[in-house]
Amino acid sequence: MIIHSDWHIHCEASYDSTLPLSEIAEAAQKYGFTKMGITDHLNLNDEKYWGCIRDSAAKVGEFQKTHPNFVLGVELTPISQPMYDYIAIHGSREGYTGPQSDTPYPINLPATKEELTTLGIRYAIGASHWRIDRAGARELPLDMEENIREWYRQQLWLACDERVTVLGHPWYHGKQLWYDDFSRIPRSMNADIIAALKQNGKYIECAAGFFRSPHATEKFKHQYAEFLREAFEYGVPVTYSSDSHNTYTDKHTNAESYLLEAGFRDGDIVEIAEKDLW
Ligand SMILES: [Zn+2]
Ligand SMILES: [Zn+2]
Repeated sequence: MIIHSDWHIHCEASYDSTLPLSEIAEAAQKYGFTKMGITDHLNLNDEKYWGCIRDSAAKVGEFQKTHPNFVLGVELTPISQPMYDYIAIHGSREGYTGPQSDTPYPINLPATKEELTTLGIRYAIGASHWRIDRAGARELPLDMEENIREWYRQQLWLACDERVTVLGHPWYHGKQLWYDDFSRIPRSMNADIIAALKQNGKYIECAAGFFRSPHATEKFKHQYAEFLREAFEYGVPVTYSSDSHNTYTDKHTNAESYLLEAGFRDGDIVEIAEKDLW
C-alpha cells in the first residue's frame, strides 16, 4: 500500500454530495488512512456556494472534536474576473452576459484567503472544471486545441496563485476530450505547470478518477501515472484524491497499480505538511 491519506473528499454539506462524515471516518479506519481532507466546492462567489461552504466548515469543525484526523479544506474553481465582479455586485450570476473581449478573460478565484481562513479552512485545492475564457465559453463546441490551451492557461495560473495549496485533478475534462492519448497535451505545457508548482511550493493531486474512468484508455492511464511521476521527480509533492461524493470506496487500490508501475513507492504519496496548512 502506498496511499495513506485522502485530501479531496466531498461531504453531505456540498450541493452535490450525500456522503456523511461518519461514513468517511469508517472508511479511514477500514483502509488505514491517517488524514481525511474535506474539500467541498466553491465554484462561484454567490450565496448558494458560500452557504454550502459555511455548512461544511460547521459540520467538519464539530466532527473534528472527536476526529482530529479530519482536515478542513475547500475546492476552488477558477472564475472569470468579469463574472466575479458581476456576482460581487448583483449577488448572483443571473442576468450575466460576458463582455466582448479579444483576449481570454482574466482569471480569479471565488474567495479571498481571508474569507477562507476565517471559516477555519486550512488549504485549498484549485481545479479547472470548465472554460471561462470568453462569453458563453462553457457552451462552445469542443475544439481540442482551444480546450487544451484554456486548461493550460487556468492550471498554470492556479500553480502561481497564493490561495492554491494543491493543483486538483490536473487535466480533468468533463467531456474526456483527451482521454484517449495524454500526449495530445504538449510536453512543454506540462513542463511549465510542473515548474510553476515547484517554484511556488505547491502540491499536485493524484486523482483516482482518471484510473477508473471508462472513457480513458489503458494507454492514457499509464501515461497519466508517468506524468505524475515526472512531477514527483521534479520535486513536486503528490497527494492522493478519491474525490468521493456519495459513497466512499476503495478507489485507491486501482490507482496504486498504475502508480507502482510508474515507479511510485511507499512514502512517495504524502500528506500535506503542517507547515503548508494555513
Ligand atoms: Zn473537481
Ligand atoms: Zn472534487
